[in-house]
Formats: sequence, structure tokens, C-alpha cells
Amino acid sequence: MQITALRLARDEALVIVDVDEVLALFVEGFSSFAHAQGYELRLERFALFQNLYRRGEAVAAPLSEGRALFDAFFALETHDLRVAPGAVQALEGLAQCARVVILTNAPPASRPARTRWLADRGLPYDLVIGSGPKGPAVAAMAAGCERPVAFVDDLLANLDSVAEAAPHVHRFQSVADVRLRPMAPTAPERHARFDDWTLLGPAIAARLGV
Ligand SMILES: [Mg+2]
Repeated sequence: MQITALRLARDEALVIVDVDEVLALFVEGFSSFAHAQGYELRLERFALFQNLYRRGEAVAAPLSEGRALFDAFFALETHDLRVAPGAVQALEGLAQCARVVILTNAPPASRPARTRWLADRGLPYDLVIGSGPKGPAVAAMAAGCERPVAFVDDLLANLDSVAEAAPHVHRFQSVADVRLRPMAPTAPERHARFDDWTLLGPAIAARLGV
């Protein structure tokens, strides 16, 4: 969906939420997929392709192989991704008094699979597929909104991009996978961090004043 097609209301609070590693346990699913293809994902750092090895090898697989595997995963397998605990209930609560929009950086061809995954998991919100740092897209959504806006992502680069492009938007970092949490670069002085949706939901509601 294009941002203009969302028809966002001026007088409704807005919550913009990422998918992978915020709503979906992406690394867990990608790791199983990679394993079945003869690879292993070693969670040694907060990165994807640098952690990917052909099984048993000491040197990380070439980036091109990682990208091919990533695209194949998006084309075939993302439907089995588990949803982050508490996310469905938290967004259900927020959706009572705010508009919820999903903003994901995923291959454009993954739209049907992503839409189905969201619907099947109880996350029936409008989906915008973007690419690159998310600041410009969030600024475009927030531009016509006179009520508070919140943005949730796992990646510092996206949170910083939003801070620059739309500084009035309330930013929340959240990392769903418990193994990744200690590795995720974080900046609590710039972006609030709540990895657990049972805490994140109320924190967003408090910021939005809803
Ligand atoms: Mg993400």
C-alpha cells in the first residue's frame, strides 16, 4: 500500500510498527530455514549475513549466498514465523484508540505472503513495504497527523533516521528475540527501549495519551 492510500486521519493517534524482530521472530525462522539448506546462523553479533556460515565452516558464507538465501526465505517460508509474545494483544489494545500501520523493509514480492502472515496472526493492519532508512516514510505518514505518533523498530539505524526526519515522533526500540537482545546496539538516551510487548504496549499508550 502507498502511504497516500492509507488515508490517515488528522485527529487520530498513529502507531507505526516494524515486522521483523518486532512483531515476527525473524531470526529464529531464518535460522531454521538456513539450517535446512546446509547453513548455520551463529548468533555472534547483531547482524544477519555476517553470522551465516556453511555448516561446519570457520569463515562466514559470501554475502551473495546470504542474500540469495534471504530472498528464497522471503519467497517460500516466512509464513511459519512465530509472532512475538504479547504483540497481538498489545496492538489490539492500542488499535482501540489509535491507527496502527505496519512498515516493513522486505522484498516487494513478499507483499502477499506478508499480508497473509499478518492477517493469520491476528495483526490485520495496513501494510506499507519500504526500503532503506525509515525516516522519510515515517515523516510522510506523520505529516498530516495532529495527534501523537509512535514508531517501533529493532534497528538503531531506522530509529535514528526517524529522529532526524520526524523528531516529534515518539520512538521505541524493541528486539523480540531474547538471544539478540544483549547484542542489539541501543541508545536509550535517544530512543526508549522495551523488548517485552507487555511493557511496550502501555509505554506507547502513555506517550500517545490514549
Ligand atoms: Mg526489523
